[in-house]
Amino acid sequence: SVKYNFCAGPAMLPPPVMAKAQQELLDWNGLGVSVMEISHRSSEFIALAKQAEADLRELMSIPDNYHVLFMHGGGRGQFAAVVNNFLGDKGRALYLVSGQWSKSAMEEARKLAGDCQIDALNIVENINGINTVVMPALKGSGDEYRYLHYCPNETVDGIEIFDEITSPWPIVADLSSTIMSRELDVSRYGLIYAGAQKNIGPSGLAIVIVRKDMLELPQMPQASIMDYRLCAEHDSMFNTPPTFAWYLAAEVFTWLKGIGGVKAMEAINKEKAARLYACIDKLDFYRNGVAVANRSRMNVTFQLADESLDKAFLTEAEAKGLLALKGHRIVGGMRASLYNAMPLDGVDALVTFMEEFAARHA
Ligand code: PLP
Repeated sequence: SVKYNFCAGPAMLPPPVMAKAQQELLDWNGLGVSVMEISHRSSEFIALAKQAEADLRELMSIPDNYHVLFMHGGGRGQFAAVVNNFLGDKGRALYLVSGQWSKSAMEEARKLAGDCQIDALNIVENINGINTVVMPALKGSGDEYRYLHYCPNETVDGIEIFDEITSPWPIVADLSSTIMSRELDVSRYGLIYAGAQKNIGPSGLAIVIVRKDMLELPQMPQASIMDYRLCAEHDSMFNTPPTFAWYLAAEVFTWLKGIGGVKAMEAINKEKAARLYACIDKLDFYRNGVAVANRSRMNVTFQLADESLDKAFLTEAEAKGLLALKGHRIVGGMRASLYNAMPLDGVDALVTFMEEFAARHA
């Protein structure tokens, strides 16, 4: 029977990609060995790596004055890397806090801060029980902060910031759970990073898109493998890169190009989220506590009005092949992650189940 996996990450990957990967797992490109088993410096792997970068550049319209890096260490690795790469010589940075992940990024920055200063600004207000993003005017002199960090999609809280922000300081954005789900103007950012395990591929890999002039900022002493300059100079192969994750990411990029790229994906993602939020809003049985303008398209959080039914909801959903709907332990309730790989059919199956469950327990 069909299974739909709503896990927040590692998340489902496109079924055609998984089928192809399975087929060529032990014999890639006619080499008689797995892509996992060949040198990252072989001509075959370098061709794959170059193609993956070219496809990502095309999908996201990445300008030439940006490096694209394939790094180790996922999202949290980048929490540290941005600090170490940009805040040498007592630099300062401003962190906008909109939920669990931007808070974690800020805490990691403070941990590593040493002589530098990390300011934080909470941008979510609870207005009558509804979490609402209230974006302050970001004003000041351009050299006050080396960068402004924010997280456009909060995976745990189900909060998304759709409007691109304007800042006097270079913007560093954690796109882990929203990258390639909608169009975005890369040229507005100093650096974009994303852990791969939602819209890109297996966990462990991080994609970094960094404007070249950002690499001139003073660095702190740091591990060589997290050094953007070294990584850029060596085409992400200073150390051995996560080759299997890179391969699968390349397949996901090909798949996404095949369905029409990010613009086509965005239209599908809008429709998926609209259908699920419509179900939540229509039935008193369910509730979502995020302002409509800030409701995440990728991570739909919701609560049952009667939380004593949570367990039954999850058990019955699973029996219907609707997997991993339990909310993050910090916020409780439910969460349906609707990343790029989740088909519209999966959302329809979930909505049908939610209507039927509500009718039965009302
Ligand atoms: N940032 C966001 C928005 C995330 O959703 C996550 C993980 O789920 C992370 C950062 C941390 O990524 P990782 O677990 O790869 O370190």
